[in-house]
Amino acid sequence: MKYRYDEFTWPEIKEAVRQEKVVVLPVGTVEQHGPHLPLAVDNLTSGELSRRAVERVPEEAVLMPQVSYGFNEHHLDFPGTIAISHEHFVGFIVDIGRSLAHHGFRKLLVINGHGSNIPFLEVACRRICNTTPAIAAIAAWWNLAKPAIREIRESPKPGGMSHGCELETSVILHLRPDLVQMDKAVKDIHFQPSKFIWWDLEEGSPVRFMEHFSRMSKTGVIGDATLATEEKGRKVVEYTVDRLVELIREFRRRRIDPQVDHH
Ligand SMILES: [Zn+2]
Repeated sequence: MKYRYDEFTWPEIKEAVRQEKVVVLPVGTVEQHGPHLPLAVDNLTSGELSRRAVERVPEEAVLMPQVSYGFNEHHLDFPGTIAISHEHFVGFIVDIGRSLAHHGFRKLLVINGHGSNIPFLEVACRRICNTTPAIAAIAAWWNLAKPAIREIRESPKPGGMSHGCELETSVILHLRPDLVQMDKAVKDIHFQPSKFIWWDLEEGSPVRFMEHFSRMSKTGVIGDATLATEEKGRKVVEYTVDRLVELIREFRRRRIDPQVDHH
């Protein structure tokens, strides 16, 4: 059964709308991930986790072509990073949502692979909710994976799992081992100690802050990539895909209650 949005014909899209399918939109970025990982990490994670989930429930969802660029101007000190300004990024996502709503889709799930996309994807989803008949929600994949992350984790908290780290490297070792150069993997956790400000994918700090990445890391990594294994990555991927399937099913059944104007 087909599940890729752009492989459908227009009558097939019309039928997918009639079946009230959830539209899943993976969003990543092109960005340095240290000396051992490719620029594609956040596209590989968000894209493949989304694909595996939708492939399991093609009767419930369709998979959009990925948005491969995101917000990451703080990484520009490292060669390769492609940074999209926040207003273009938000506008691009909102335009996708508006087009989907125009065709009759009512449920958009944005599956994100890059931490710094989150505030802008939240704004975009709110704009879609407030300006179209559709609803849109965003999930960063690691936030769905917390129990599996706690199970596999060996690196110190906070900091061991942040960027090009134990977690991301393990997941790429599972998804695309041919793209990982483990002989170049490093441990690099050198941000300033603080009660309020740190970087960690398992638990972010209460104060949100991001400065130029090169002020905090000489290698482009924050975390301990040397602890990554394919087995850890497999566990996290399997757990996350299960949660994504559940999320798609629940979101498809979610009611959109009538809006009430109380003037
Ligand atoms: Zn990443």
